Amino acid sequence: MKRKTSLISELMSAQRKRLVLLGGQSLALGAAIAGQAVLLAEAVERIFVQQAPLSSVVVILGSLLAVMAVRTLLSYGNGRIGLQMAASAKTEMRGKVLRKLAHASVPSALRGQTGGKVSVALDAVDEADSYFSQYMPRMMEAAVIPILILIVVFTLHMNSGIIMLVTAPFIPIFMVLVGLKTKNKSEEKFAQLAEFSGTFLDSLQGLVSLKLYGRAHRQQQEIERSSLGYRDATMDILRIAFTNTFMLESIVMLSIGIVALELALQLLVFKSLSFHTAFLILLLVPEFYSLLKNTGTAFHSGRTSMGAVRKVEEMLAETKEERAASDRGDGAGKTDGTGEIGRVEKADKADKADKADKAEKAEKAVKPGTAHLDLIRMPPSIELRDVRFRYAPDSFELAVGSVSFGPGEQIAIVGKSGSGKTTLLHLIAGLLKPIAGEVLVNGHSLAQYDEAAWFEHVSYITQHPYIFAGTFADNIAIGAGRDVSRAEIVQAAEAAGLAAVAAELEQGYDTFVGEGGRGLSGGEKQRLALARAFLKQPAIILFDEPTVGLDLHTERILQRSIAELAKKTTMITVAHRLYTIRHADRILFMDNGALLDYGRHDELLARLPQYAEMVHVQRKGGFA
Ligand code: ADP
Repeated sequence: MKRKTSLISELMSAQRKRLVLLGGQSLALGAAIAGQAVLLAEAVERIFVQQAPLSSVVVILGSLLAVMAVRTLLSYGNGRIGLQMAASAKTEMRGKVLRKLAHASVPSALRGQTGGKVSVALDAVDEADSYFSQYMPRMMEAAVIPILILIVVFTLHMNSGIIMLVTAPFIPIFMVLVGLKTKNKSEEKFAQLAEFSGTFLDSLQGLVSLKLYGRAHRQQQEIERSSLGYRDATMDILRIAFTNTFMLESIVMLSIGIVALELALQLLVFKSLSFHTAFLILLLVPEFYSLLKNTGTAFHSGRTSMGAVRKVEEMLAETKEERAASDRGDGAGKTDGTGEIGRVEKADKADKADKADKAEKAEKAVKPGTAHLDLIRMPPSIELRDVRFRYAPDSFELAVGSVSFGPGEQIAIVGKSGSGKTTLLHLIAGLLKPIAGEVLVNGHSLAQYDEAAWFEHVSYITQHPYIFAGTFADNIAIGAGRDVSRAEIVQAAEAAGLAAVAAELEQGYDTFVGEGGRGLSGGEKQRLALARAFLKQPAIILFDEPTVGLDLHTERILQRSIAELAKKTTMITVAHRLYTIRHADRILFMDNGALLDYGRHDELLARLPQYAEMVHVQRKGGFA
């Protein structure tokens, strides 16, 4: 991908004002540097050569101090602008990364290592800092001030100017050479860091499993290996940086030496130069080279930052490409078999016009802002039409024929473990996209709906709901997707049978749960998910029933809450409990990726031996 700096130029163009200011300040800084040298040379000339009394140079010394102060202020100002540019750029980049992640389809956002993404969002963005805070100000200074100094030197003494002009290019040439050598080093460093972060986070999250399976030591070695890899990559970069600095210093020293030698010859041997001029040039020359040299250091950190920015850019491009792939049409994802969720917003126009009227009504009936969502009837009817799905080529294939569920029906999906129940649930939820066929919601392909708008109507109660780090109340409140009052939260918690749990928590609803807080049991987590659903009042609930037995009391509470929730929704449950299965309006029996049969409990019992057997096993208490 040859869009190396497009993100940078995009970020820079947003800061044009600051760049102009930087240019102006650099010019003033150049003038201050020249002025300082002139005043200093003048003062030295008067005091040491003309032996003038100190009182005669008071004004000069005063001006010198003032110019020095101005110079410091301007330098500081440039640094500040750099920092401000870096801060805005970083905020912008983080925002972009987060927006991309938030807008990416769920499976693609989940794909890859979480740690790796964290390292891009935090470290890579941080590393990009120096491009704006160091590289840009230094480059601007280097573009303006040395030219100014050269002009001054040329007007004073041609030879010195020529020497400077001839030696100066060695610094950028050398930088280019080093740059070529380090080209991929910083990207390598980032790859290593991402791997290290990923391994570390995986290990932390899986600590219990790793310990139980005696893999802790292996994982420790793994962490050690990747941390050593990261160290080596860092050391490589440092080695190059140090060599770089050493070489630059040598070039600068040599160049200053040549100018000084020439000045000495002119001054002492040929006597063609005044002390004042020679001294002034000698003051300006180190400034000239030190600016160019700073550019070298800035260039190096700029390169490292570029590597980091490219990482961010790649991540942004990745999600963009995925989006494009799924936008390419009614099922571009159909061919890749990765099960991407499409965000097809360009629903058929004619169809839209046709439905505009209805949609308008729907807007009033449904939540605001979802006019384009043609969910006129709530709860919706759902239809599967020759849906096929594969996680990867030559892997498990799910192929359900055509089946439809009326609004508000209670559906139970049953079958052996690995028969594709969860996959089917995810397809209906729109978390996975079929490779062929389609899921219709209220008669329209799910792909036509805006993903976010669709999810507004869906609650998915998994076996292991995620508990975010925050208070118990916050965790319930996220279900609503809006600001909710404490009373609403308490009401939802009560409906989900959580009131007693909250009462027992140390600080009630304000107890910290999730990472870093108090842990919750499996049953409590599921009830929390139910409470979220009560707040959300979805039109469709997907429920992955717990496989593990809960105590009778909790079980009752769950059943009652679910029945309450199910009243106004189309509910699709991956069912393990005979109670749920028997009470379902329709049972889908999955076997090895195929929908073997569907119907009511008594119907299936009569005609499907596998179902009868499952019920039999279940009755004996052996089926999970
Ligand atoms: P069930 O819910 O009935 O236990 P699943 O739908 O979870 O079954 O899984 C069906 C098949 O799909 C299994 O063979 C499983 O290994 C496979 N599978 C599930 N999730 C993935 C995934 N993310 N990638 C690849 N294969 C998967």
